[in-house]
Amino acid sequence: MEKREQLYEGKAKKVFATDDPDLVIVSYKDDATAFDGLKKGTISGKGAINNQMTNFLMQQLEKEGIPTHFVEELNERETVVKKVTIVPLEVIVRNISAGHFASRYGVEEGIIFEEPVVEFSYKNDDLHDPLLNDDHAVALKLSTREEIAKIRAYALKVNSLLKEILLENGVTLVDFKLEFGKTADGTLVLADEISPDTCRFWDSKTGEKLDKDRFRRDLGNVEGAYQEMRRRLLGKE
Ligand code: C5P
Repeated sequence: MEKREQLYEGKAKKVFATDDPDLVIVSYKDDATAFDGLKKGTISGKGAINNQMTNFLMQQLEKEGIPTHFVEELNERETVVKKVTIVPLEVIVRNISAGHFASRYGVEEGIIFEEPVVEFSYKNDDLHDPLLNDDHAVALKLSTREEIAKIRAYALKVNSLLKEILLENGVTLVDFKLEFGKTADGTLVLADEISPDTCRFWDSKTGEKLDKDRFRRDLGNVEGAYQEMRRRLLGKE
């Protein structure tokens, strides 16, 4: 596998072409942003942790029938993934009120929902990722009815599987964001990452936040929280 030119640089990752047109290399950065890019910083060691945690979780999900973009981990920060066209929807699943759910609807954090809440945002930086529903997404031709139904079913299954894996490690899955993509042959696969950047993790016993909220809200010990998540899931220091 030959690493070629950089195709894209996002807030937390870079994507490189390879000599195979169906594969790309994702390289995870330590850069962190929050509040629509207004807050910027670095979380030392984050790139490696997010890469390894994402790969571990995607492999668990694959075993349970969720197709993902994962192909092969190359090194600490880099992974070969299938080249996809990203469906421009941020798919958020919530089990407990927090973050924008709490602020948007004026409720406290920590309300446990009877059923998971699936929510979509239009992935568009210029518009600040506005919330939208299925009808909006279809009207805007971001996706089709059938594809949205499939995305919703995958997202709910991912939620059940992740909740279980995390709980075994003393972590409550509060909410998370997924992105899906389509490979050259049109197959819908889970893409992007599953990490403390994109999920809210609370210690099941103490409620301590073990995710990017520590950076967003200046709670301190940001690196420690990422390391603790790695230790719990991957058993590495
Ligand atoms: O901010 P909000 O409460 O809507 O976030 C819900 C979940 O989605 C959180 O776990 C957050 O980390 C994730 N998220 C994300 N990327 C975004 C928006 C939200 O990873 N652009």
